[in-house]
Amino acid sequence: LPSGVASQRSATRNDELEPISATTEARTASSKTMSATSEAKAETPHEGEGSHLLVVITPTYARPTNKPPPQANALLRMLNAMCQSSRQNILWIMVIEFGDADPAPKLPRCVPGRHTSTVHAVTIEVPAEKEKAPARDAAANGNATESSETKTKKKKPPPHRGVAQRNAGLAFARDRERLRAAIDEGGLFGGNTAELVELAVRPWDDPLVYFGDDDNEYDPRVFEEISKISKVGVWPVGFPFAMAPTHVEAPAVNASGSVVGFYSKFCDKRTYNVDMAGFALRVSAARTATFSPRSKQGHLEDDFLRAALGEDYLDRAALEPLADGATQVLVWHLGWKFDREKGKWKLMYEVRQPPDPAFVCKNTL
Ligand code: UDP
Ligand code: MN
Repeated sequence: LPSGVASQRSATRNDELEPISATTEARTASSKTMSATSEAKAETPHEGEGSHLLVVITPTYARPTNKPPPQANALLRMLNAMCQSSRQNILWIMVIEFGDADPAPKLPRCVPGRHTSTVHAVTIEVPAEKEKAPARDAAANGNATESSETKTKKKKPPPHRGVAQRNAGLAFARDRERLRAAIDEGGLFGGNTAELVELAVRPWDDPLVYFGDDDNEYDPRVFEEISKISKVGVWPVGFPFAMAPTHVEAPAVNASGSVVGFYSKFCDKRTYNVDMAGFALRVSAARTATFSPRSKQGHLEDDFLRAALGEDYLDRAALEPLADGATQVLVWHLGWKFDREKGKWKLMYEVRQPPDPAFVCKNTL
């Protein structure tokens, strides 16, 4: 491994958490492609070892309200985290609604030589959803009629945001021709896709897919962890201002390293107690699953994963726990809501007293 990369890492990363990235480096460094290349070549994102294309799907919108964080702020933070990850080839699909401005032209790019990952951003559009998710922020929009309209509707609108957008991104990730065109256009894999094809590696075959909302906080290492997935990976998600008192939702892992259940404050009747930010999978492992606007509140991910992987608790045993055996938090979900009384936005913070005695979901294997 080039020493420049190592020193850059230790200068910017928390030593305590180093073991995770060390695993990635050891594996990358031992790959034939890396050891056979010159130092200059080694600075480019990694190649070989099958398909390491990572498709990150991000529903995003120009906030019609002042709900934080502002879109440009959110996207820039996310891009920074992806660029700062080590040796990833990321196709970032931002999915906007018709009529919104394309955020891509205003975003910077990863810096070759400085960053070892490459991110190519593409923007796709979907029609505005007919039934809007309830506007948590209706009051903040100064739109007094919105909440009364919502109340008088016979059918309650689905409680999800970004469903059509994620499905549109997923359709892109399933479309080899579109992927191939985007890879060529974006110069991913160091622009060496022709060479890869000669080596019988086709990066558009079976990419990894991650659904990354724009308002989460990402440690760059989460993208490195994802690249280790062979089928489906899961890892902890931090909820710094919710899910008290644990502030985390995580796979429960037994001594032999298998996922046997989940820690969650919201167990409900879910098989896969995992947040959108806490899993990624091969497109082939997703089979024909899509996100359903009819999912119950809090069940969007579970319904998707049950359609993809199976409904049985036993199916969870096939999940690959990442982030050092699901002991590290590398992504955080922040929830903002509008406080009507105070007339301002605040981060959701729930403290339940007395605290629940246990947060292990009952349906543990
Ligand atoms: N989002 C969107 N259009 C909307 C509402 C949300 O594209 O009308 C996006 C948002 O930018 C984020 C994702 O959908 O990437 C989830 O939305 P939000 O963070 O509001 O939902 P929560 O995290 O509270 O479930
Ligand atoms: Mn969010």
